[in-house]
Amino acid sequence: MSNAFVAPHFQSPENAREWLENLRWPEGPICSHCGVINHAYKTKKPGWYRCAEKECRKDFTVTTGTVMERSHIPLDKWLMAFYLLNASKKGMSAHQLHRALRLDYKSAWFMCHRIREAMRAGNLGPLGGGGGIVEADETYFGKTEQPRVSPRRKGRPYNPRGSRGPKDKRPIVALVERGGNVRTFHVPVADKPSVQKIVKENIARESRLHTDESPLYFGAGQHFSAHETVKHTAGEYARDDVHTNSAEGYFSIFKRGMRGVYQHCKEKHLHRYLAEFDHRYNHRVALGYSDIDRTLAAIRGIEGKRLMYRQPD
Ligand SMILES: [Zn+2]
Repeated sequence: MSNAFVAPHFQSPENAREWLENLRWPEGPICSHCGVINHAYKTKKPGWYRCAEKECRKDFTVTTGTVMERSHIPLDKWLMAFYLLNASKKGMSAHQLHRALRLDYKSAWFMCHRIREAMRAGNLGPLGGGGGIVEADETYFGKTEQPRVSPRRKGRPYNPRGSRGPKDKRPIVALVERGGNVRTFHVPVADKPSVQKIVKENIARESRLHTDESPLYFGAGQHFSAHETVKHTAGEYARDDVHTNSAEGYFSIFKRGMRGVYQHCKEKHLHRYLAEFDHRYNHRVALGYSDIDRTLAAIRGIEGKRLMYRQPD
């Protein structure tokens, strides 16, 4: 990973801007307001373009409408942070980035969360298309902070406690395509309705569902070509190709990373950390991705809203 640091786009904000423009705009600048391609001219302000469309005439830069918009952090540091978060196996804390990039801690923290936002995959199709295997499993991580509302308590919020089960922990559900991608969800409560809703909405009907014997998945089989389970309580971890080892493997990377690098996170940010670990898993070496590929994939996710590009009238 050390060789990558000498790349020109890490050396100055100007180089970084040029590099990002070439990456995002191979056919010329794209107006972030109206989506017109290559119909803008440079203004006097470095990096700024003005749209030449009659109806638009708005100004933009290569970061307008992205997670980097209006940031005072120099662009070369942004790109370096993208690289560092993607090239390290378990991520990198805001403290590490603040030291490595000589930014104040608050800026580094803010930047980390924006990068996670870029890593968050948008509207994806169902997992396990073409009759593949999808594993579903759930785990618990960190203490819950969001008060629950129970009808039995007349709607008064409470924090669940109890010796039985991980009631005061944050539930995470993971769906993993065998040999493919992961998709994770932080749910307020891991009960049958919420888990089955996730399973149903994110897995292709023709796929085989693999889970453990948890009652959370009872009856889920009717939505798929098969539902096969392993009995962990009976010491069974795999039967032929039936197992949930991929999901468990993902959880173990996630937990080691969270404990080793991030230590703690607020519950309201948990989904962003999951997005970060999902992104690295979905662009892992075993699937043929290098550190650079993984970084580029994250940078391509910087756009806030999906804009329909168009040719000039
Ligand atoms: Zn425009």
